[in-house]
Amino acid sequence: MKLRKVTAASAVVLALAVSATACGSDKKDGGSSGSGGDKKIAIGIKFDQPGLGQKTPQGYSGFDVDVAKYVAKKLGYNEDQIEWKESKSADRETMLQRGDVDFIAATYSITPEREKKVDFAGPYLLAHQDVLIRADESGIKSPADLNSKKLCSVTGSTSAQNVKDKLAPKANLQQYPTYSACLTGLQNKAIDALTTDDSILAGYASQAQFKGKFKLGGFKMTNENYGIGVKKGSDLKAKINKALEDMVADGSWDKAVKANLGPANYQNEPAPKIGDIKS
Ligand code: GLU
Repeated sequence: MKLRKVTAASAVVLALAVSATACGSDKKDGGSSGSGGDKKIAIGIKFDQPGLGQKTPQGYSGFDVDVAKYVAKKLGYNEDQIEWKESKSADRETMLQRGDVDFIAATYSITPEREKKVDFAGPYLLAHQDVLIRADESGIKSPADLNSKKLCSVTGSTSAQNVKDKLAPKANLQQYPTYSACLTGLQNKAIDALTTDDSILAGYASQAQFKGKFKLGGFKMTNENYGIGVKKGSDLKAKINKALEDMVADGSWDKAVKANLGPANYQNEPAPKIGDIKS
């Protein structure tokens, strides 16, 4: 009799656990559902940007990863409840719109165009568009020099759009799916320069395997205000803004910048104020 009672109780627990899991995986709008340890949050990051978002055999690392972990924790998720997904530049809006991820922290600049499709918390970092060139390059001294060059950037990025719109409209722009693909092109001279945010380029230039091979132009061509992307209308935006404020206030932001961008000797801007977007 006693044994049967225990069995019945276990069945109830099991049923509850199953429904909590089902609920957690269905709900992609912030994952506030579920109360057990089974709930998950799906976060989009870059997989190939050292210092920012990188997948290695040891796991996931970078400033965006640390920001995402901090935010997730404030939303009630431990690291082992995070499901990391790669969000390439061109895929980010769609991934949010489809609900593939709860939020995206992936060197994602806040722009009016993107704000038509998704919402942003932040900004949490201010970067600037720059170029990466081979160390022996002498023909690229200013952004105007790019007009006669083979320039690589990534489809769906602000960097590629800025080149076309204003920075070097006459450049031979090649759009690749990822920055690491551009980097290969720069190495084997298929392209002359790679353009994107200085934060990303500093990370590449400092990689041991590229030591002495590349240099940054130092042009500071734009302001790139990194935000955390969420689905349009999501109540996560306000919660994430609060988490980002806490991250700056308790010193975790500074620590994360130093740990992740320090090794590349990246001269970061101070922590931006929430809602203060530099044009
Ligand atoms: N921050 C720029 C952007 O959001 C360039 C970096 C990237 O492609 O992630 O488009």
